[in-house]
Amino acid sequence: MRNIEITKTPLKVLVTGGAGFVGSHLCDRLLEKGHHVICLDNFFTGSRDNIVHNLGKSNFELIRHDITEPILLEVDQIYNLACPASPVHYQYNPIKTVKTNVMGTLNMLGLAKRVQARILQASTSEVYGDPEVHPQVESYWGHVNPIGIRSCYDEGKRVAETLMFDYHRSHNLEIKVMRIFNTYGPRMNPQDGRVVSNFIVQALKGDPITIYGDGSQTRSFCYVDDLVEGMIRLMGSDPEFTGPVNIGNPVENTMLELSDAILEQVGGNSRREHLPLPKDDPKRRQPDISMAKSRLGWEPKVSLAEGLEQTVDYFRGVVGS
Ligand code: NAD
Ligand code: UDP
Ligand code: UDP
Repeated sequence: MRNIEITKTPLKVLVTGGAGFVGSHLCDRLLEKGHHVICLDNFFTGSRDNIVHNLGKSNFELIRHDITEPILLEVDQIYNLACPASPVHYQYNPIKTVKTNVMGTLNMLGLAKRVQARILQASTSEVYGDPEVHPQVESYWGHVNPIGIRSCYDEGKRVAETLMFDYHRSHNLEIKVMRIFNTYGPRMNPQDGRVVSNFIVQALKGDPITIYGDGSQTRSFCYVDDLVEGMIRLMGSDPEFTGPVNIGNPVENTMLELSDAILEQVGGNSRREHLPLPKDDPKRRQPDISMAKSRLGWEPKVSLAEGLEQTVDYFRGVVGS
């Protein structure tokens, strides 16, 4: 397997969405590896706090920019992560979410084509929609509502994948498509409504734990360090390997089980409160990671209990108690 990091170090690496939850961890890891990192973000859901510790470093640059507008840069690699990831935020301005995924990805592909950079797209398990195949394999085409409230994100990400493959076929671009499953860890935005951050903040404050529906729906939660390792391995993989490849933790939990695990970590005496299930909420989600194992030698290392411990510690600092 050729690893392009062996041929040229340090690389100039663009991380769009670099001030977000996942992007900021990715920037940290790339800087540790000695690369020059350009973090580009419009700060819609990202935060300066996530990257402030890197601001003085000579190999770190921050650009405030919206990827729906063209930009000229000279880089070797592009990680395209810019896009709000939580349903609350991507539904806040759904048309903007489509623009970010379609026009934004197009601009990043145009940039990659001009400078001959390798580009990795942060796609999502949402391309499978409410899946009829379980666990989800990459060859499954998905079960997505094209006109629902989640469509701006799901269909936006599907078009982004299409653009990646059309640029690959038409312009020979080196592409990597990564289908990310639910990820959690320090620097999640406490206000973004995702289940792990909601439950932890509620437990820390002694507020009711809000279970949507009966809590029997499942997700598979990957700790952010594991995800970032998978991302870097995918970027460094054989040029012929485009993906799409699932990166996620195959351990599946119901939302009731998740609330138990979080209450066990945090303690306290929050009660559970059942609220209506949001529309089009997928019932089950679990990645088949055979491809990531065989092509990238990757599998997650951090258990839910260990990852939650780190995440709870982080949120104690953010919300107190
Ligand atoms: P996040 O919301 O914390 O980060 C997204 C970042 O992109 C933010 O910093 C935001 O300000 C920035 N951004 C949004 N629109 C932009 C635009 N038009 N121009 C420039 N910057 C813009 O989300 P995250 O959890 O870090 O997710 C990162 C990527 O991974 C996203 O593309 C998301 O779709 C994907 N993903 C995440 C998960 C997950 O569970 N976290 C799961 C599947 C896919
Ligand atoms: N683009 C960009 N930076 C670059 C090169 C291109 O933002 O360095 C944008 C460009 O403005 C266009 C998009 O990427 O909107 C697609 O570019 P491409 O050259 O593939 O297509 P074209 O400009 O011919 O439509
Ligand atoms: N969820 C919940 N309570 C909350 C927030 C979310 O029960 O306070 C549920 C939500 O309905 C979904 C699951 O948790 O079934 C994961 O939601 P999240 O928004 O984190 O991710 P996604 O639905 O995009 O996988």
